[in-house]
Amino acid sequence: MAYVGRFAPSPTGPLHAGSVLAALGSWLDARAHQGRWQVRIEDVDRPRCPPGTDKLILAQLDALGLRPDAPPSWQSQREALYEQALQRLIAAGLAYPCACTRKELAAAQSQRERHGELVYPGTCRPENGGLRGRPARAWRFRVPAGVVHWQDRRLGPQQQDVAQAVGDFVLKRADGLWAYQLAVVVDDAEQGISDVVRGEDLADNTPRQILLQKALGLPTPRHLHLPLVLAADGQKLSKQNGAAAFDSSEPLQALQAAAAGLSLQGLPPSATLPDWLHAATRAWAATIAPF
Ligand code: GLU
Repeated sequence: MAYVGRFAPSPTGPLHAGSVLAALGSWLDARAHQGRWQVRIEDVDRPRCPPGTDKLILAQLDALGLRPDAPPSWQSQREALYEQALQRLIAAGLAYPCACTRKELAAAQSQRERHGELVYPGTCRPENGGLRGRPARAWRFRVPAGVVHWQDRRLGPQQQDVAQAVGDFVLKRADGLWAYQLAVVVDDAEQGISDVVRGEDLADNTPRQILLQKALGLPTPRHLHLPLVLAADGQKLSKQNGAAAFDSSEPLQALQAAAAGLSLQGLPPSATLPDWLHAATRAWAATIAPF
């Protein structure tokens, strides 16, 4: 299968050291496989995306010399595709409306809380009585019982019992916004993505995405989850904990830091951007790409 990779930032803030690492890793993997690399702006959660951040991210990528092989896409312009996928799941009996509020769930679930995420107990599943006259708020995916096994190119064999760990997860939220899980699965398939290369913090979403791919009859891409950049306090560096945007007047410095996070060896300390990126591609091909 032809290699098609992607970088899929949520434009909630400018790229920081952690997202530069994900951008560089996905770009290098595509280059090392003589593949194509696309950029998809994941702006479905509009209230969390300040206007202009998408443009800023695209300019940052350009400053890093990471140029996509196709025009970027925006999830906010692709919502008809998510609606079609939801309708297919509904028609197949694999999605159902849910009336539960967060408060109700929190009260019922305090015992089963895991990583701060609520395990949905299936209250509104049709066989449990459905909406029982309450107004529909969200749409949920009917998660099948059993363990999902998958292989990560860096982390090795992985598994999760999604029904136990997460339960029937949301496809369309009560506020009408599309959930990341559905949008990412629809887009990866529609855009022909062969390889998902992203930060390790997203690894535990993979089994949910695999279940949705199966339910929709879509292929599952290969996965490579990259190491995270940690803040000084050992926490994951993220926009939420105020990670600083990198200095786009010093792109090589940002790339060097990302390359160190990817354990790439023997890169020139100073070079033109194209020369450095060429050396990094060779270094990547010699280390991680064979996995
Ligand atoms: N949009 C997600 C994020 O920025 C990444 C999605 C993905 O790579 O699957 O965290």
